[in-house]
Amino acid sequence: MRFHILTIFPGMFDSYMGESLFKRAQKKKIVSVRAFDLRSFTKDRHKKVDDRPFGGGPGMVVKVQPVWDAVKKLKAPGSKTLKKHKTRIVLFSTRGKRLDAAMARRLAGYDDLILICGRYEGVDERVAEHIADEEVSIGDYVLSGGEIPALVLIEAVSRHVPGFLGKEESLEEINGSFPTYTRPEVFSPAKGKKWGVPPVLLSGNHKKIDAWRKKFDETKKNRI
Ligand code: SAH
Repeated sequence: MRFHILTIFPGMFDSYMGESLFKRAQKKKIVSVRAFDLRSFTKDRHKKVDDRPFGGGPGMVVKVQPVWDAVKKLKAPGSKTLKKHKTRIVLFSTRGKRLDAAMARRLAGYDDLILICGRYEGVDERVAEHIADEEVSIGDYVLSGGEIPALVLIEAVSRHVPGFLGKEESLEEINGSFPTYTRPEVFSPAKGKKWGVPPVLLSGNHKKIDAWRKKFDETKKNRI
């Protein structure tokens, strides 16, 4: 599974992708994550990726041209993103469909994801109209750019890629999520204070433990 990120801040991905699960998964060629600088696809002397909005208003808008040229290059025959690969182009937008577990699972079915990160006041709407296959939001709040949404999506999707998770991590489905505890059995944060763990987890009775864990599916549903 390959992620191709289009951004004006490619350096933002280096540290997160260079550690832990992503470091291992990239070494083992289970996933590949590459960030491309939109600025290098500009055509003017000043390498401008943004311009003023038509109709006026505050801020700047990411131009359609560098996005188009970057996508064209990624999809060109002979480039690493071959035409026969199943590719999906995602634009991060506050108006997009909300990312959830089902969407992450669905996107994991593609070979290549091209992720377009907006900045400033947003991206020229022609990217949504003519280039992107879908628009994705990670929640009802406004961030300053699509880079953190891209990291969130890459992580949520990668967990579904076979081999990405090691034996220390499990593919926990949202509805199978339950609280966990580890040693010590009793933690004393201050004199006279004791924080214990639910006795059932120490009982060794796996039937009871499973039943206790399942119970949280119900409480979870009330929370969502
Ligand atoms: N004025 C714009 C917000 C621009 S925020 C609007 O009303 O939609 C700049 C960029 O950050 C957006 O283009 C988008 O790519 C990204 N972004 C901000 N918040 C986001 C969110 N909740 N989910 C996904 N992307 C987001």
